[in-house]
Amino acid sequence: MGCRGMEESMKIIFDSNSENEAFARTVIAAYITRLDPTLEELADVKTAVSEAVTNCIIHGYSGTEGDIEMQCDIQDHDVWIEIVDHGVGIPDIAKAMEPLYTTKPEWERSGMGFAFMEAFMDELEVFSEPGKGTRVKLKKHIGKKAA
Ligand code: ATP
Ligand code: MG
Repeated sequence: MGCRGMEESMKIIFDSNSENEAFARTVIAAYITRLDPTLEELADVKTAVSEAVTNCIIHGYSGTEGDIEMQCDIQDHDVWIEIVDHGVGIPDIAKAMEPLYTTKPEWERSGMGFAFMEAFMDELEVFSEPGKGTRVKLKKHIGKKAA
């Protein structure tokens, strides 16, 4: 995860289906409970995870089967989350991250997933290689600003 304090870490691997999108959202909510988040912080993190996992299912694997990993860590008041798929990957990451950009307009996607992740979290980084998969790294400070 690139951060110290691995004793708080957690990792799950699940199949790419929409039931598991809901599952991932519930898991992350339970995981960050120890940071005593506000309802707004909780909603923000759940939404970001939901967007990232939905992208793995819809774009990474295009509705076919595949593994999705969610790796999490807590360092002081920060939660770090990585969502990984081994799907098709993203050829142009900067373009994919532009608001309203979508490669699936016919599926009624609005191209706002990355924009929401960026808005609701403090940090968003995307790593991807066509044919290999995609890794989305998210960070958010939870709770009191002072340690
Ligand atoms: P929305 O999230 O609003 O339903 P969207 O998923 O198309 O629409 P984003 O989540 O912002 O919008 O993603 C933008 C584009 O990035 C996608 O259309 C897709 O081309 C690409 N993309 C995102 N995540 C992945 C992924 N895990 N694997 C492959 N391509 C991805
Ligand atoms: Mg999306």
